[in-house]
Amino acid sequence: MQIPFVDLQAQYRALKTEMDTAVLRVMQQCNFILGKEVGDFERAFAAYVGAKHCVGVASGLDALKLALEALGIGPGDEVIVPAHTFIASALAVSAVGARPVLVEVEEDSFNLDPKRLDAALTPRTKAVMPVHLYGQPADLDPILDFARRHGLRVVEDASQAHGARYRGRRVGTFGDAGCFSFYPGKNLGAYGDAGGLVTDDDALAERVRFLRNYGQEVKYKHVVKGYNLRLDTLQAAVLSVKLPHLDNWNARRLAHAAAYTHALEGVGDLKLPRVIYGDHVFHLYVIRTARRNALQNHLTERGIATVIHYPVPIHLQAAYADLGYPRGTFPTTERLADEILSLPMYAELTPEQQDYVVAAVKDFFR
Ligand SMILES: *Cc1c(COP(=O)(O)O)cnc(C)c1O
Repeated sequence: MQIPFVDLQAQYRALKTEMDTAVLRVMQQCNFILGKEVGDFERAFAAYVGAKHCVGVASGLDALKLALEALGIGPGDEVIVPAHTFIASALAVSAVGARPVLVEVEEDSFNLDPKRLDAALTPRTKAVMPVHLYGQPADLDPILDFARRHGLRVVEDASQAHGARYRGRRVGTFGDAGCFSFYPGKNLGAYGDAGGLVTDDDALAERVRFLRNYGQEVKYKHVVKGYNLRLDTLQAAVLSVKLPHLDNWNARRLAHAAAYTHALEGVGDLKLPRVIYGDHVFHLYVIRTARRNALQNHLTERGIATVIHYPVPIHLQAAYADLGYPRGTFPTTERLADEILSLPMYAELTPEQQDYVVAAVKDFFR
């Protein structure tokens, strides 16, 4: 048996008729740039998360970048970012000319540790970027409280947590802006790169709308120096077909996670993911073991695809040597990088596939 890490083809097969119709309609209309489908998706996604505005952009990284820029963050400023995240969180801060200040994560939630925020604060700190990693909300209450006490902006990186809730409310709606990636493999994914930003702030939404479209207020009237970072109309049509299925897909992910946890509890030295804050949407099911590399090889030999999210922490990447954090600065993050392994996870995962994965993991520790 071959088990892919995600199965986008299974999802396409389930949506084929609806999807083909939506994509063909855009091609027939040829209204490719900021066509009607973009506004339709923006309204639907804003309503889904419970925000006043959604602005569709070219990628998750661009959503983060534009949020920071529209909030006035730039050279000389610092933004607090968790040390254990996808590098895009930090790259967005660098892209606006500010400095990412990395902060250690909690070992059991994998998310930004609110207890370490005070030590990271300087007179240059302008914002905090909680990341809802793997689909689990970060512990937002103490993070928002810290931001309020110090007059900081909050930009949520919700790129792995479409639909996740904290205290009953969807993530992305707690900060000044919530940023989403619609990269194909995300819980809500386009057929190429795409992203979106949600906010309740009218002025912020308007600034991002200008910035993503050459700084234009109306055609050829440029009020700020902008970019070409628009959400593609074809991708918006794809996303609108998928959005009504998101809650159902997330529920199936949650059920698969529960099944993995039930079957793998107490096996070898495995540490299984814990649901600590709010409603997890299991973008990834990440296990830990001291024998990670051997386990990954064992699964590869049995046709099971796994991924390490992420094998080298940001502070040890060549691209961020300039931040000057030596090895040992973030011991939890560094240990996680050596021990984590993401098992196959997607809504369409069948019980037979999951049983095969579980049996292979158990066999390794026997
Ligand atoms: C995917 C992802 C991004 C970036 O999204 P792109 O659409 O690939 O630019 C940012 N942050 C996190 C945590 C992600 O997982």
